[in-house]
Amino acid sequence: MAEDFLHTSEGRILDNRLKLNQVVREIQHWRSGVRVVTEDGSVYEANYVVLSVSIGVLQSNSIFFNPSLPGWKLEAIAKCEVMVYTKIFLQFPYKFWPSCPEKEFFIYAHDRRGYYTFWQHMETAYPGSNILVVTLTNGESKRVEAQSDTDTLREAMVVLRDMFGPDIPDAIDIIVPRWWNNRFQRGSYSNYPIISNPQVFYDIKAPVGRIFFTGEHTSERFNGYVHGAYLAGIDSSRVVLEEIRKDKETEHGSQTQLQEPLLALTELITMSRSDTVSNLHKCDIPTELYLSGKRGMTEAIL
Ligand SMILES: Cc1cc2nc3c(=O)[nH]c(=O)nc-3n(C[C@H](O)[C@H](O)[C@H](O)COP(=O)(O)OP(=O)(O)OC[C@H]3O[C@@H](n4cnc5c(N)ncnc54)[C@H](O)[C@@H]3O)c2cc1C
Repeated sequence: MAEDFLHTSEGRILDNRLKLNQVVREIQHWRSGVRVVTEDGSVYEANYVVLSVSIGVLQSNSIFFNPSLPGWKLEAIAKCEVMVYTKIFLQFPYKFWPSCPEKEFFIYAHDRRGYYTFWQHMETAYPGSNILVVTLTNGESKRVEAQSDTDTLREAMVVLRDMFGPDIPDAIDIIVPRWWNNRFQRGSYSNYPIISNPQVFYDIKAPVGRIFFTGEHTSERFNGYVHGAYLAGIDSSRVVLEEIRKDKETEHGSQTQLQEPLLALTELITMSRSDTVSNLHKCDIPTELYLSGKRGMTEAIL
């Protein structure tokens, strides 16, 4: 996507503002800017930061915020459930399962809930691959992540032999993704309860000073999905652009004029005028700017 707006040559992005493979360790923030420190010790300064790490990463505290995120934000982040969704791939020397397109899925019933329940063959997508996929979630995902792949393969074979008989061949290869233990994921996606307090969602999405939060967990309609992440990214960039526009107008001396309608909306200017964020438990951006506007809420996030 960056290719659409950064300078490229022969398919390579030449703009050195795009930094790949940098691990963010710390985000420092104050009233007028942000500083991002990466694991290799590099320091980047900017007017704003858009943080798109997963809700699991936010919960893991692997990024240090200085000053720390306010209590309402940390509370909301802690409240969002993280789903672990694991697709284990097993390759066989030959097919032993029914593989017509109408029979892509089969289900195994075990006393233990979620124990190697959902199976799918890959013949429709990758004919001749001789691959089966079994999906595990949450508790079973974490259990399997903690054991060796050999143990997982052994368990899966017991289940398959229960379904297809003792003569099926052993798998020749296995891939067990570890979304829960991956420090860049810490889970697969957000899982808000069906009936939950919407304030939790709003607080997760709400910016803190110059830090804007995006990613699938900030998509009101499509959290958990790729398109949710995409749409949330568009939303967040819109909000940041609006902030940049406001900043520019302020620079041109129209600060008071601009802030008046903002004040009327939020009824509060919550950050101190000084160049610190010691009081940063609130933000001064109206909710409708970072929500999709459907709710029309006008209060500031506290
Ligand atoms: C097994 C599985 C199956 C799925 N199936 C579907 C599906 O069928 N359909 C669907 O719509 N969705 C599916 N999803 C969900 C979908 O993948 C996510 O909703 C989507 O990827 C979220 O995108 P995101 O940009 O919000 O977050 P991510 O994709 O998690 O992107 C966050 C990025 O931040 C990076 N990062 C983390 N920490 C740091 C750090 N400290 N410094 C720098 N970078 C960091 C990560 O490396 C990552 O690149 C599935 C997910 C899984 C795991």
